[in-house]
Amino acid sequence: MFMQAIQFNASIPRYAFGLAAQKISPSILWNGMSCTALRDVPEPTLPNDEWVKIKTRYGGICGTDLGTMHLHTSPYLSPLSSFPFTFGHENVGTLAEVGARAGAFQVGERVTVEALLWCKPRGFQDLCRFCARGEINLCERMNEGALAPGVQPGFCRDTGGSWSEYYLAHASQLARIPDNVSDENALLVEPFAVGLHAALQYPPRANETVLIMGAGVIGLMMLAALRATGSKANIWVVARYPFQAAAARRLGATEIIDGKQDYLADIAKRTDAQILKPIIGKRVMYGGGVDVTYECVGSDASIDDALRLTRHRGRVVLVGVPGITKQVDWTAI
Ligand SMILES: [Zn+2]
Ligand SMILES: [Zn+2]
Repeated sequence: MFMQAIQFNASIPRYAFGLAAQKISPSILWNGMSCTALRDVPEPTLPNDEWVKIKTRYGGICGTDLGTMHLHTSPYLSPLSSFPFTFGHENVGTLAEVGARAGAFQVGERVTVEALLWCKPRGFQDLCRFCARGEINLCERMNEGALAPGVQPGFCRDTGGSWSEYYLAHASQLARIPDNVSDENALLVEPFAVGLHAALQYPPRANETVLIMGAGVIGLMMLAALRATGSKANIWVVARYPFQAAAARRLGATEIIDGKQDYLADIAKRTDAQILKPIIGKRVMYGGGVDVTYECVGSDASIDDALRLTRHRGRVVLVGVPGITKQVDWTAI
């Protein structure tokens, strides 16, 4: 049986061709001439009876997926990936086949797969030092064991991903979706976990002023995670578009700062900072500043601004996958 899958197949010639030719026609990046293509592939089969096969309900489109398709993503993780892989680590689906030793799961149940290929899915009974203490995102064996290299499904050729009709998961990765959670919300479990991780690792104090740079999915999940963990902080969200501002308001933002306007001046005014003009280059905010900034855009400009907008002895938390930055001025620290 065959199915359709959106796959990424890297080779140096394809990669180089995509980088060069996308300026002429961006569709080269996904029409099969470069790395990404819609292909017919065999339906996946269970590697052993601890695994399940899942029929996709929804596959999420992550910023890293778009970055990968556009060949912007840092090559850092490429040795921890295996090609060709099917995209799609954000996922929600229905169990289509359950291995005999996959636990008390049943065909037809709605699930989401924890998007990490740590020691257990890789067949190790003795866990690495990080997995042993539950920090499976830091697993040191993501290129070893029973699976091809891959930090997540959606970057591993053996598991498939949610950008196809079926994908595979080890029983240890499964979470049932309760009936009162919609498919759309279940799909956000993985990006929400990104925000939740940052909120739990670096929680703001109740009286602090918090800035969230960016109101895309990660910025909004950051906000939702802070409120879900009970934060009473003043949370300001920099949003570029009205629909983002509306979503941020709904999720509990104290103030929305217009990212299309001069937000450096806006935040300087709100925090009683001076704005100084250097001999050349970007303006400097001196004094004032917010207590904590969660940077959720990942661009050079945004990380650079995060450092400028945060007070002395404040905290800047980089959330998500920033990648390569070339234009960040660290002097503010
Ligand atoms: Zn993601
Ligand atoms: Zn491990």
